[in-house]
Amino acid sequence: MNSIDRCPLCGGDKEPGQTTFAVDLESCLIVVRKVPAKVCRQCGESWIGEETARQLEGLVQNARRNRTEVEILYWPQAA
Ligand SMILES: [Zn+2]
Repeated sequence: MNSIDRCPLCGGDKEPGQTTFAVDLESCLIVVRKVPAKVCRQCGESWIGEETARQLEGLVQNARRNRTEVEILYWPQAA
C-alpha cells in the first residue's frame, strides 16, 4: 500500500471525511449524506472507497423500492 495519498487534481492531502453521494435514476433521485470518504483538504474533491461503494449500491437498491421521487438517506453509522 502506498502512504502517499494525494489529490490527483490539485496535489493536496486527502484526509478522512464525509461526503454526500447522489445518484439520479430515471424514476428518482437518491441522496445519501454523511458517507465516509477521503476528502481533499485543498479542493474538497472526495473519493469513496470500494467497500463503501458496495454498501452504497445496496442502499440505493433498497431506496429504489420505495418509489419516491426524491429519497434522502443518511449513511448508517457503523458500530
Ligand atoms: Zn484537491
